[in-house]
Amino acid sequence: MDAAKVVPATTRRTFLKGGAALAAALAIGAHVAPGKAEALTESEGGGKEGGTWVTSFCGTCIWTNCGLEVKVIDGVAVEVRGNKDHPSNKGTMCPRGAAQLMNLYNPYRFKAPVKRTNPEKGLDVDPGWQEISWDEAKGIIFEKMAAVRDTDPRRLMFMYGFGDTLHEGPFTKLFTGIFGTPNYAMSAGPLCEVHHAPQLFNNTFVDRIDVGYCNYLITLGRNMGAQAAFASGPARAMADAWKRGMKTVVVDPHSNVEASHGEWLPITPGGDMAFVMSMANVLLHELDVYDAVYLRDRTNAPYLIQDDLDYARDAGTGKPLVWDVSAGGAKTYDDETLGELALTGSYTVNGQPVEPAFEKIKASVKDATPEWAAEKTGIAAETIRRITAEFAEEARIGSIIVIDGVELPYRPVCIATGRGAANTMQGMRTYYVADLVNALVGAIGVPGSVIHADGPKFVVEDGVIHDVLMAETFLPAYDAGFSIPFKDLTGKQFSALAKFPILTTTMGAIVDPQKYFVDYDIDVMFPIGANPFMADSSRDLCVAAFQKVPFTWTVGYNMDETSMFCDVVLPEHSSLERQQIRPVDETMTVGRDTIALAGVNYKESPVEHVYDTCQYEDIIMEMAYYLGYGPKLNAMTSGFFKLVGTEFALDPAKEYTYAEIIENYLQSIAGNGKGIDWFREHGFYTYKVPIEECYDYVAQSVGRVPVYNWRDFMVGRHLKANCEKWGVEQPGWEGRMGEVYAEYTPLPEWHDNFLTDPSDEFDLFAVNWKISPRILGLGGQDENPWLREVVENLEFDDLRIQINPAAAEERGLRDGDRVIVESQHGGSTEGVLKVTGLMQRNSLGFPAQGGHVAPFMNPTARRGTTYNQLLSADDGKYFPESGSISIAARVKIRKAE
Ligand code: SF4
Repeated sequence: MDAAKVVPATTRRTFLKGGAALAAALAIGAHVAPGKAEALTESEGGGKEGGTWVTSFCGTCIWTNCGLEVKVIDGVAVEVRGNKDHPSNKGTMCPRGAAQLMNLYNPYRFKAPVKRTNPEKGLDVDPGWQEISWDEAKGIIFEKMAAVRDTDPRRLMFMYGFGDTLHEGPFTKLFTGIFGTPNYAMSAGPLCEVHHAPQLFNNTFVDRIDVGYCNYLITLGRNMGAQAAFASGPARAMADAWKRGMKTVVVDPHSNVEASHGEWLPITPGGDMAFVMSMANVLLHELDVYDAVYLRDRTNAPYLIQDDLDYARDAGTGKPLVWDVSAGGAKTYDDETLGELALTGSYTVNGQPVEPAFEKIKASVKDATPEWAAEKTGIAAETIRRITAEFAEEARIGSIIVIDGVELPYRPVCIATGRGAANTMQGMRTYYVADLVNALVGAIGVPGSVIHADGPKFVVEDGVIHDVLMAETFLPAYDAGFSIPFKDLTGKQFSALAKFPILTTTMGAIVDPQKYFVDYDIDVMFPIGANPFMADSSRDLCVAAFQKVPFTWTVGYNMDETSMFCDVVLPEHSSLERQQIRPVDETMTVGRDTIALAGVNYKESPVEHVYDTCQYEDIIMEMAYYLGYGPKLNAMTSGFFKLVGTEFALDPAKEYTYAEIIENYLQSIAGNGKGIDWFREHGFYTYKVPIEECYDYVAQSVGRVPVYNWRDFMVGRHLKANCEKWGVEQPGWEGRMGEVYAEYTPLPEWHDNFLTDPSDEFDLFAVNWKISPRILGLGGQDENPWLREVVENLEFDDLRIQINPAAAEERGLRDGDRVIVESQHGGSTEGVLKVTGLMQRNSLGFPAQGGHVAPFMNPTARRGTTYNQLLSADDGKYFPESGSISIAARVKIRKAE
């Protein structure tokens, strides 16, 4: 079936054409942004003359939200450009921003509400879409939702992913909470193990690198520049830093542009933990370099640890103890008479032998010599020594810097860890050890180092920061004990630290609830922006799960794999059309001119909506009001947007549109009556954050950095007690629970695993990374022909499987060969080979994730290889502590017949 014919392009709102139509559209106002009163005489894009530039922003990556302007001629958006007034991107823009025009006019979109007429469901089964009215579509959905609410709200499963249009995930979560189902799964993050260490060390969901002041940057499986291709402040900050002379050391199986500003250390996949442990070894056992003042004052390194690895505590108050060298005795960590604290040595407290955490840390890396690490990483011992010495010297321990009149420690070094290192087996601990190395030289939360991306959300326990997410979501597993049956389908209780419960567990629990101690079935599935068929490692299991659920609906943009299983689809605006607010500040990387930048961007559709589509949040709100959740939703929405106690708080008794909520939010932020009308003209509003709030160093005096990961250890201890008490084992880890408990260690520790165990048969490693034109699939990048063209014309042709020349020659393979790659886990994928010296000797590179199989998507979406089929979450293959699957696997390769 031809995709363009699947849904007739007849629309509820007529697509306006011609000058008269534009005038009419402008008169409507509510639908069409008036934009800047700038009549153009010539097009800067070489297109038609005349027209109007309408303010917008991009937001199709998660690094930043570039200010954009969309040129509209006769009601048609014809060009996108960077907004030169925007303080972040200053007029620049990457291909993803420019390509959004293609999404707007994408003929493969859903164009009207549809219901399936074919009850059979499958990835290659034509749903037999039939266009229906909005009233009929919403009637079917709301009735099903009411029925499941009345039967058992747990039988509803929400599934959230980044999706094509970057939905407001938290907004969905509000509704989930109100509805009363615990079943909220993330399809965006089966590989997101990267959030735990930032929570521990920086009070933040993602950390960002202060390259404005950094001089020596080590990237560990993290793309910082060209591959992420952020076009705005972050990219400029990197360029400025390199001009200043910042050295970048890329530790990765795949080289990238950043390495041209320093060096590339091609590492054996899975060896990252050994690399950072050996750095700690060189610092503490060879160079004897560490920032003692920082460790004493700002971390739990001086806390006294018993032989059983628990804190030694004051018998009266229960508070952790430290050793006061001046007083020659133990005191509580917050004693006002504290003198100099011991970092080393052995003492006796409460009749028990104890040591400061720092001493334990030092002992834990004693055997992690560069020679030991060289075997596991493929990086020469002398290179590890040299890099560590350079890092230690550039850390300038003891130096200070004054920024905006505020005096702070200056530590211009950073190990920046990313998905490539964090999402392998023991990856969560790898990130922790990398940040531990940063902390050893005092480079956490200070200028030049790794800092927080979002504001401090301090949860302090025993004077030490601990993971906010863990506190909110996983505290019950720690404090409230274990319950059978499970409270949810996600296996959280077995993965007490899992931020993003793996999809495979969720899918497995839908198919076979009993195996996961669940005593009910899922009746209604509501995936939003979620595509587990592409994000998960087991497509067959996803198919089985979606086939089992009686009713699935979505608000969707394109005819992807998930929509193939839907019973009703409500068509959604494209990314450029959505009415949206996003922060102005930048996340992953920041420079001197934007570090204190904060504010909000606003956008709405620059043209009359092209098809009969909707704003997702409006559907959620309408449904909530229909189901009688209005007062609750309004109260929670006020809380989410920080409107409580202000004149802009929502009235519990009223029914709102999303536009009205945005209006209240904007006015609450910008003040002086600056609402949607003002933002339509200006596009964004900014203000400056005090410099003390940009660096956590100040706040660390309240909550110390947990270089000794006591809390993880305690979670593991309680998990073990609960599992043993109830006689249960984690599905997939039956008979191996000892390995699960061993992951909850408070110290650096190397554990062998399927990736590090040698294999003669599977003699290569498969690795994967994000590429510029395909970041998380946001903004409908997968079926955007402009972006696909960009990829194919890149020198490296990122749709191909990349192999080192020597590895190719050994196997008789050549550039352009069609090959089949088989995984140690049983999966396989196919693609075309690219021979390149940018790959580590024993690794195969799979840039991004391609190979959609949904038949009604733009055929361009089928190009590329499907990487995740090489991975596995089965039979104990996922990392038990985090719930993540390993992004790398051992594989073998052969030429396709
Ligand atoms: S994708 Fe990101 S970097 Fe590119 S234009 Fe959009 S917001 Fe800017």
